[in-house]
Amino acid sequence: MKVGVLALQGDVREHISALIACGVYPTTVRRPAELAAVEALVIPGGESTTIAHLSQIFDLFQPIRDRIAHGMPVYGSCAGMILLADHILDAKAGQETFGGLDITVRRNAFGRQVDSFESDIAFADATPAPVRAVFIRAPWVEEIGTGIEILAEIDSHPVAVRSKSILATSFHPELTGDHRIHRYFIEEVARGALQHLQ
Ligand code: GLN
Repeated sequence: MKVGVLALQGDVREHISALIACGVYPTTVRRPAELAAVEALVIPGGESTTIAHLSQIFDLFQPIRDRIAHGMPVYGSCAGMILLADHILDAKAGQETFGGLDITVRRNAFGRQVDSFESDIAFADATPAPVRAVFIRAPWVEEIGTGIEILAEIDSHPVAVRSKSILATSFHPELTGDHRIHRYFIEEVARGALQHLQ
């Protein structure tokens, strides 16, 4: 499977390492031709406004939006989750997203940088052991639309959600060395979605 990591800003390297550990050989995506060459995309954690802005500058914004709308499997962590949400609360003025997930996320919902934390949480398909989740100025999901499956929650706020071909987590599995969520994306989300697209 040809998986790309959007490599404009954020923790690109960590996602690449996690994907390699899952047996795929990811490429970085900074140009439209690089996007066209991949079958699935990972949007890293970082700063959602910066990634959106750079995507515009690199002529990737609309192509990514279109690919997602046409069913390209995509996984976003933290800022990546924000970029996949159709609606944002506490957005920067004029902040746009790629969208695709019928959810409303609240940016920086858990507080400021100093309120970053880690927690062991149950993740739907990673049982029996919980997943160590790292939250860094993370969003949570405030509302979900139709067709959204909640995979993990903290204090009844969804922090991992999925619709058919789209997976998003508020936290950063790429930082922990536990690759179950990347594997879930590859095996459960992307592989099925790609078979469906063919
Ligand atoms: N707060 C950041 C944003 O709004 C996300 C933080 C992160 O990705 N760790 O984009």
